[in-house]
Amino acid sequence: MNKNPLVLILLGKSGAGKGTQLNLLRERLNLEFIGTGDLLRKRKKIDDFTGKKIASVIDNGGIIVTPIPFKLWMDSFEEIKNKGEFNGLIIDGSPRKIKEAWLLDEALDWYEWDKRVKVILIDISEEEAIARITRRKTCPGCNHIVMFSKDDEDINNCPKCGSELVKRPEDTVEGTKKRLAWFEEEVGQTIKYYEENNMLIKINGEQSVEDVYSDIIKAIEDDNN
Ligand SMILES: [Zn+2]
Repeated sequence: MNKNPLVLILLGKSGAGKGTQLNLLRERLNLEFIGTGDLLRKRKKIDDFTGKKIASVIDNGGIIVTPIPFKLWMDSFEEIKNKGEFNGLIIDGSPRKIKEAWLLDEALDWYEWDKRVKVILIDISEEEAIARITRRKTCPGCNHIVMFSKDDEDINNCPKCGSELVKRPEDTVEGTKKRLAWFEEEVGQTIKYYEENNMLIKINGEQSVEDVYSDIIKAIEDDNN
C-alpha cells in the first residue's frame, strides 16, 4: 500500500534541543532532509548576483527575503518528488514567519504531501532555555553542542572530533533573552497559526533526549489523520 509521506516540521526556542531531535528523527526514520541553512550555504557558492548577496548577508548580517529560501525549498521538493517513493521529509529552520507557513502549506498541497503534516513544537520554558544556553559550549570543528552540568565544566575538547570547545560570545543571559524575544516575535504567530488549525503537537522538551524522542514518535503514530 502506498502510504502518504510524513512531513515533519520542527519548531522550538534556542536551547530546546531541536537539532539533536532532528538528527535522531532523520536517521532513525530515514527521512529526506531540507535545511534552510544548508541550502543557503550551498547557493552562496554560485557566483551570481543572488549568490554574492547571500554570502554578504551570511558574513555581514542583513535579511534574506522569503522568496530566496522558498525557491530553494521548491527546487528541493521537486528533486525529492522525482526520486519516487520515500518515507518522508523533515524541514529544518522553517517556517519562521507566518507568510512562510502559508507558502509552505500551499507548496505541500501542490506536491500532494499535505496528508500527514506534523508540526512538532519542542516546548521549554524561558528559564530553562536561559539555563541551558548559558551553560553550553560549542565545537567549532563539527558544531556539536555540549551541555554542562556543574560536575563536568572542565571538559575542554569535543567528545566527537576532539577540537577545543568554545563558549559562544552570544550565549549569555542577555544574548539568550534577545534570541527568545526574537523567537516570540518571529515565530509566535506561526505557532499560533498551526495551533488554530489543529496541526500543532506540543512536546515537553524538559526531559531527557530519549524521552523527548519517544514522545515525538508516539505523537506521530497516535495521530494518523
Ligand atoms: Zn567536534
